Amino acid sequence: MSIIVFGSINIDLVAITPRLPIAGETLLGETFFKTPGGKGANQAVALAKLGIPTHIIGRIGDDSFGEELIKNLQISGVKTENITISENVSSGVAIITVDNAGENHIIVIPGANGQVNQDDLEKLSHLLPQATAILLQLEIPIETVVKAAQSARDANITVILDPAPAQTQLPDQLYPLIDIITPNEIEASQLVGFFVNGEETAAKAATILLQRGVKCAVIKLGAKGVYCATADQNFFIPAFPVQAVDTVAAGDAFNAGLAAALFHKLPLREAVIWGAAAGALATTKRGAQSSLPDKITLEKFLIM
Ligand code: ADP
Repeated sequence: MSIIVFGSINIDLVAITPRLPIAGETLLGETFFKTPGGKGANQAVALAKLGIPTHIIGRIGDDSFGEELIKNLQISGVKTENITISENVSSGVAIITVDNAGENHIIVIPGANGQVNQDDLEKLSHLLPQATAILLQLEIPIETVVKAAQSARDANITVILDPAPAQTQLPDQLYPLIDIITPNEIEASQLVGFFVNGEETAAKAATILLQRGVKCAVIKLGAKGVYCATADQNFFIPAFPVQAVDTVAAGDAFNAGLAAALFHKLPLREAVIWGAAAGALATTKRGAQSSLPDKITLEKFLIM
């Protein structure tokens, strides 16, 4: 059996500069690096590192970035046979400028991610019989996300949606197709229309998300922890105390930890603890995919 990640694959191109340029200005920067990203790819790598057989379905462009992105996923142990190369479009790219004060400018070009479509849903239908869960995010066209959730629901597998990047509205018909929705504070705030910034407001937001039709709402509260609610239980798991240096990809690590525990048939509370542990570990290292914990690291951390 396996878990399917149906989502985005990106490359992040990062320039570090003394300050951000103004319009029309050419500036000498300090350093440049590129790292693989995209919420879909991050969650797939996170799952594979946790030892879960993981398929990714998505698209890259017909450019050299695409080749690199596939290789990177393969090295991480993700099964990539269902990635399609889209003609005449770039791979998904995030062009990021960061200054010494940590301020940034980010331009995201969805590229091939914007073309994920019916053909990719066909690929999904072939994988569903051998899968226990699907992980979705919002970096591919929303109508494709809805159809993927519907197919997964029809196949009776667990649908986990990370509603990121933040949106003020999701299609009404999507909520009842979701088993577990996992917004962070910003995403939860946008979805419910009030400020979610701790356990009390998370509980109110979770109630609304359950009313809209999800079976379980897991609200990620950063360094505070996680709030979880279903129709018959709710609980709060405080964050693991760690020395956080960089919270990039903490949410992706969380979703992978949660899904990995459910793959091993652990109860929901245990799964949220695995998610919180994976999220905490991801904050202790810099970077996105490079900060994601492996199985042994997570297991050791959980028994500490
Ligand atoms: P996102 O990365 O999507 O913004 P969060 O920042 O809420 O999501 O992080 C996801 C989870 O990772 C949190 O719910 C928490 O369990 C864990 N986490 C995040 N930041 C920290 C931290 N500073 N210390 C410990 N755990 C953290």
